[in-house]
Amino acid sequence: MIIFRKSAQLLEKLQQLKNEGKKIGFVPTMGALHSGHISLIGESKLHCDITICSIFVNPTQFNDPADFEKYPVTIENDIYQLHKTGTDILFLPSVAEIYPNGLDNGPHYELGFLESILEGYYRPGHFQGVCRVMHRLLTICQPDELYMGQKDYQQCMVVKKLLSDYNLSCNLHIVPTMREANGLAMSSRNLRLSAEAKTQAAAIYHALTHIKDNVGKTTPENLKREAVAIIERAGFNKIDYLDICNAEDLAPSVNDKLFDHNVALTAAFIEGVRLIDNLVID
Ligand code: AMP
Repeated sequence: MIIFRKSAQLLEKLQQLKNEGKKIGFVPTMGALHSGHISLIGESKLHCDITICSIFVNPTQFNDPADFEKYPVTIENDIYQLHKTGTDILFLPSVAEIYPNGLDNGPHYELGFLESILEGYYRPGHFQGVCRVMHRLLTICQPDELYMGQKDYQQCMVVKKLLSDYNLSCNLHIVPTMREANGLAMSSRNLRLSAEAKTQAAAIYHALTHIKDNVGKTTPENLKREAVAIIERAGFNKIDYLDICNAEDLAPSVNDKLFDHNVALTAAFIEGVRLIDNLVID
């Protein structure tokens, strides 16, 4: 695996690979890698000639500075994991490399409705930061295929819009969420949880599964109430949202009526750590 810290050098290498006709797959991450990240690498390796992973803890997407400070960093282990899975290139840029004009001078991305709901509502500015880093990374890496996790459902929709609005010609592949044996979605933030909280946190999955298993048997409002109760009973201190939306575009259900394809999404805090998850319910 070759490690690049400078975009100019990475660009040069990629140009050479492209001239050789290689298909480039890209997996952007913020590190503290787990099996969820590795499954994205696996998908890329399966379908592409060259797999690039980036590790960059993007400061502009953290609306809470304390969350940024506490974000887990396990870079030595990450490099080992990537090497072991046969990743071809690791891009490990500095903040200055991604934001040569500084952190405060970014363009505004028009995300409309997507920015006003769920994660967009509870994390103001978060998706602007996501778009800034993704736009920059995609401009540098110019991948043919892009692999992202369903765990960040709304982020996938935002990136889909970014690709379309800026005519970035790569295909987005959304990879299913990898879970612990108890159902807890794998997340770098789980590293900040005690063993007890990791057990309790499986309630998020149980709540989403409750919705999936009982859809049609009672009203969506009842389902949401019951799911919230499951999460609260498990010891979560706060729930930002728990909603059932249109799986296609995240439109909220109106008059308690569901769509043809739905997704249940939630964000909740345990031990001060904010966890998100979702489940598609057809
Ligand atoms: P992050 O490092 O949290 O920014 O995540 C990098 C990529 O890994 C994103 O596309 C995430 O959606 C994806 N990802 C994170 N957790 C999981 C998971 N449990 N299963 C599959 N993909 C994941």
